[in-house]
Amino acid sequence: MTPAERRAALEAIAVEVRECTRCRLSETRTNAVPGEGDPNTEVLLVGEGPGMNEDRDGRPFIGRAGGLLERLLGRIGWQREDVFITNVVKCRPPDNRDPEPDEMAACAPYLQRQAAILDPSVVVTLGRFSMATFMPGVRISQAHGTTRSADPATGARDATVFAMYHPAYALRNPAAERDSFEDVARIPGVLLESRTRREANRATALAARRPVPAHEPPTTSPSIMSQAPAEDTDQLTIF
Ligand code: URA
Ligand code: SF4
Repeated sequence: MTPAERRAALEAIAVEVRECTRCRLSETRTNAVPGEGDPNTEVLLVGEGPGMNEDRDGRPFIGRAGGLLERLLGRIGWQREDVFITNVVKCRPPDNRDPEPDEMAACAPYLQRQAAILDPSVVVTLGRFSMATFMPGVRISQAHGTTRSADPATGARDATVFAMYHPAYALRNPAAERDSFEDVARIPGVLLESRTRREANRATALAARRPVPAHEPPTTSPSIMSQAPAEDTDQLTIF
């Protein structure tokens, strides 16, 4: 997918989300919040669901939790425009209650399609509900700051998942806030590792597709690497 095609595909999803009535959250929302960011990023951040400010403006993480998220990203020299930010449910649960299982199930195809278009190297989960989607069966107190491989069924076909506390929780819990500043500092290294793994996978796939003439010995020469298609993602500065 070219960068322009990726942008258009994400915008098409956003149009669908803004009109969606697949679950009861559509009845109480002001604005759905499809998500936003760099369509060509390597990093997808996934929160829980819009709050009051997000519901008012139709944009993710613009309230106090968003302020902390921006400070966390600032710790590694990134800005919110460098990544793509969305949520497990795209419409605000009334009174900021937890999203219900049937609401998350109804909304899941949007996140899955966004992940498929972005093909991120790293998915950062923010909070328990997002973590349950990408890293099922773990406890956040144990799993924050750690990685797993994404199940391709999530839409992220070759991604490393990195779990963090939800910034709104970190705002209420100083120990979790300190942990979050430590955790975020690991993301550049996680990205670097994931990028390297993906490049190796691509080179292997390319070598397997390349017909080897009978009179030539099979080769894994460095020229195979140089034939890898140019990355069309905006590479994030890692350090
Ligand atoms: N909390 C979330 O989980 N998502 C937002 O977009 C804002 C606050
Ligand atoms: Fe549709 Fe998701 Fe909003 Fe429910 S939360 S109405 S499934 S966009």
